[in-house]
Amino acid sequence: MLPKIDTTEMIEFLTRLLNTPSPTGFTEQAIDLCEDALQGIPGIHLQRTRKGALVATLPGVTDGPWRALTAHVDTLGAMVKEIKSNGRLKMTKLGGYPWNTVEGEGVRVYTASGETVRGSILLTKASVHVHGQDVGKTERNDDTMEVRLDARTESAEETRDLGIEVGDFVVFDPRVEVTDGFVRSRHLDDKACVACMIQAVKTLSEVGLTPKVSTVLHVSNYEEVGHGAAAGIPAEVSELISVDMAAVGNGQASDEFHATLCVKDSGGPYHYRLNQKMRRLAEDYEIPHKIDIYPYYGSDGEAFWRAGGDVAVSLIGPGVDASHNYERTHSEALEATTLWCLAFLLD
Ligand SMILES: [Zn+2]
Repeated sequence: MLPKIDTTEMIEFLTRLLNTPSPTGFTEQAIDLCEDALQGIPGIHLQRTRKGALVATLPGVTDGPWRALTAHVDTLGAMVKEIKSNGRLKMTKLGGYPWNTVEGEGVRVYTASGETVRGSILLTKASVHVHGQDVGKTERNDDTMEVRLDARTESAEETRDLGIEVGDFVVFDPRVEVTDGFVRSRHLDDKACVACMIQAVKTLSEVGLTPKVSTVLHVSNYEEVGHGAAAGIPAEVSELISVDMAAVGNGQASDEFHATLCVKDSGGPYHYRLNQKMRRLAEDYEIPHKIDIYPYYGSDGEAFWRAGGDVAVSLIGPGVDASHNYERTHSEALEATTLWCLAFLLD
């Protein structure tokens, strides 16, 4: 039997994390929040990598071959590419997504001095009463999308007077909402899994249990651009679980009520023996789970493999609907993922 998870506490932490801005390259505040959540766990050793990831080491019953779990706090976002002559902002994307998934979204621009300016993402020709059918037909790209600032500016100079410059981070509103177990928000990828991983470790310490072998929690901060966990996994680690959302949609086995073991994605198959172990754990502990393949997907486990990491890697995570869009999952998938992490820690 696995210890019981405090789902309310997990979703409260997840909500806090979702409301903490952390586009790739601007993740310090979210890493701080994770560090705070883990502080106080008996025996835990917390460390930041030079790159800014959090590495938490938990001593095990035996020092045995180490294990690790990794999940990422960095999210999709944008950066100011250019201040236009009309005072509005041209953006460059951080991470991979089509512009239509953020059209109409509220944003905060973080200036170098730490101030924020509100705004929203719109098509350059947004008014239906002015541009008619063009509004529907225009291709959404870097040139046709812009930030309209909620400040009085009609020139590049006036925008610069607000403290805004090229390179400032543009953070999308996460719009977190919890209804009847459903959690709807941007950036459940991968904050949902960070919350599961942290809750698993907190649950262990609350019931006075210790991982079977020494285990590392790696909170990655550059996953969305492909090299998050390339560094920061200690050489002692022999088994690495990448905890990241499962892709839900037509033809997929994954759903919002299960955790999924992904056996193959764009980077090829994961580690057969470790996959077999994860399947056995799910069956032994009756964890609601699916097995799936993701057609357009790469993980931080693969980032570590590509960087030369010599470990077995598996990928598990909760089903997330409309990934890299306005995402949604359910507490049942979060509980299943947390239980799977717990089983991995204990067995
Ligand atoms: Zn992810």
